[in-house]
Amino acid sequence: MNSNHGFFDRFGGKYVAEVLKRPLDELEEAFRHFSRDPKFSAELQEIRRDYIGRETPLLFAPRATEHLGGAQIYIKLEGLANTGAHKINNAIGQVLLAKYMGKKRIIAETGAGQHGVATAAACAKLGLDCTVYMGEVDVRRQQPNVAAMELYGAKVRSVTSGSRTLKDAVNEAMRDWASNPDSTHYVLGSALGPAPFPDIVRSFQSIIGEEVKAQCEERNIDVAAMIACVGGGSNSIGFFSPFLQQKSPRLIGVEAGGIGPKIGENACRMLGNASRESIIQGYKSRFLVDEDGNSLPTRSISAGLDYIGIGPQLAALGESGRIEFVSATDKEALEAVLFFAQKEGVLFALESAHAGAAAMKIAKEIPQDKAIVINMSGRGDKDVFITSPEFRPEEWKRFLQSELQRLNEQKDIHNAKLLGETANA
Ligand SMILES: *Cc1c(COP(=O)(O)O)cnc(C)c1O
Repeated sequence: MNSNHGFFDRFGGKYVAEVLKRPLDELEEAFRHFSRDPKFSAELQEIRRDYIGRETPLLFAPRATEHLGGAQIYIKLEGLANTGAHKINNAIGQVLLAKYMGKKRIIAETGAGQHGVATAAACAKLGLDCTVYMGEVDVRRQQPNVAAMELYGAKVRSVTSGSRTLKDAVNEAMRDWASNPDSTHYVLGSALGPAPFPDIVRSFQSIIGEEVKAQCEERNIDVAAMIACVGGGSNSIGFFSPFLQQKSPRLIGVEAGGIGPKIGENACRMLGNASRESIIQGYKSRFLVDEDGNSLPTRSISAGLDYIGIGPQLAALGESGRIEFVSATDKEALEAVLFFAQKEGVLFALESAHAGAAAMKIAKEIPQDKAIVINMSGRGDKDVFITSPEFRPEEWKRFLQSELQRLNEQKDIHNAKLLGETANA
């Protein structure tokens, strides 16, 4: 379901400075052209199969189903995609498009770092130069992802303006793009931002929903509800996309309920009454901002859902009622991580666990001959620095202390060696 000239009802649009209009128009034209090019499609399909590892499995979860006592539970294992989450679908699609457009250089923004990692990997795979903008605060908090980006050969630029987080990284990436529109493509990480990004990102993520549709038809699965977590909205809109024009199944988006309903305690843009309609970073949608447009504080245990904005198409579909929104708290997400790990041997990312938690709540309302499909947008290996301090804080503290000690001792040995070499010389 494409936008109407960049708009989804009254949301969306292309509210950018004049210098960015041309690269956005050029991108829109190139996307239209190459998405009909058989050579582009064939190359994308081959990379999806051999590099990303598509199609990803649709797993029946019998022990979870039995325990919850209602609908049959199925899990789309998107977290088995190379690099561990759905973000690679968009990164590969856009980097390949940029290559066909003759661009030599890729830039991206990243908050938690997952989109940066996916883009860095896609650039390494396709041989393009990669620079990732990341707020200084996030660079410090998300070192494992910074290390991964650098392993893939990307340059990580620490952004020191404003609050030194995602919002500032986006501004910096847009500034770079405006200065280098001919050589450079900006890979935006979710189904938001100025047109044509919401359409492009949805299109590359729709492979998730298309596979689910085919997998369910092939196995005669009668789907009553599909559930996905919603940060900016890319995994959910891709997962829901082939079903938007139909009345069923129910499509349920799950926002981060954080630690409570008050302002600053969560990241709910559709639920609650804290969000406002506004135009920020090039598009019109619902944002957690005050009346002057300044960001309100947000909170979630999952970095990927902790964001003030939501994709314009989701905002429109939430208002029209086609997509229902619910929330799951930090605590419920952690419980869902444990539940699916121990019942099914599947480790959900904390973001995806919000969808798992919502499924656990509604399974009983749905008859046993019908199914719920949960999108596990990512796997939870990346969350060990967050889940371990929650589940086993003392052991984790001792681990970190011993690691620090080991590194310091290594440094001492290294220094002693250097000293020894100088003495011998
Ligand atoms: C980034 C991320 C999300 C949230 O982003 P969307 O654009 O809403 O999909 C969800 N799950 C995982 C695993 C992520 O890395």
